[in-house]
Amino acid sequence: MPLENMKRMLAKASAGKYAVGAFNILDYNSTKAVVGAAEETNSPVIIQTSAKTVLFWGSSAIVSWVNELAGFSRLPVALHLDHCKDLSLIDECIEAGWTSVMIDASSKPFEENVVLSRQVVEMAKAKDVTVEAELGAIVGVEDDIHVKEQDAHLADPGQAVRFCREVEPDCFAPAIGTAHGVYTGEPKIAYDRLEDIATQTRVPIALHGGTGLADEVFRKCISLGCVKVNISTQLKYAFIDGFVGYHNANESDYNPLNVIRAQIGELKRGIAEKMKLFGAAGKA
Ligand SMILES: [Zn+2]
Repeated sequence: MPLENMKRMLAKASAGKYAVGAFNILDYNSTKAVVGAAEETNSPVIIQTSAKTVLFWGSSAIVSWVNELAGFSRLPVALHLDHCKDLSLIDECIEAGWTSVMIDASSKPFEENVVLSRQVVEMAKAKDVTVEAELGAIVGVEDDIHVKEQDAHLADPGQAVRFCREVEPDCFAPAIGTAHGVYTGEPKIAYDRLEDIATQTRVPIALHGGTGLADEVFRKCISLGCVKVNISTQLKYAFIDGFVGYHNANESDYNPLNVIRAQIGELKRGIAEKMKLFGAAGKA
């Protein structure tokens, strides 16, 4: 099936009170694991790439893997560019075949964020590509975007309403207290703020910093309006642990295909679990 953008899948998720997992791929193997987990659980899925991964492999290689793998699938699959500040890279991805992009101008002053995000909406709309935009500062490290804890601030509901009215994003990422990377303490999620923002903006909400959150935190955030959940760090760990773990357990096995199989299996297990937890299983 050809790739689709996020619009229909997020609208369905919103009506059905579940969330679509957005998983950051790293290479062909991890893409295969994401599509494989979606097939196994019959879930819609968002394949997500960081800007760094796009720059590492090149946009055409990534599009060819995703098209090859999703082309054999009957599931709804979107290809989304995660946190991007660079309008020329966003433009390149739109031209190359991404069906969705995120503009992250959240480090800019409010007015500038609005203008830049709106510019991306205009660019994307012409190509039927959906746009996610961010407000507030999500703590942690995402790609080369570092946000220290003292600089993190939550999205303000009043500003969120204005932002969404002026930008008209297809998906909105307000900072609500989650963090990128690995949690060192108990995350403080501003549930009331999430609820306010979701009900007042009526825009599908993306939950960032999903790795390491407890199951009940995911369930609560989804019940309050999160319909896209980003999982990146978990895949980085499974990618390395699946590979190294197999080798450590089978030191004399130098058949690379066995190692690759173990790596894909490790990735796929964790991804399928998340799809079930988010309620997306069986919703393709
Ligand atoms: Zn993020």
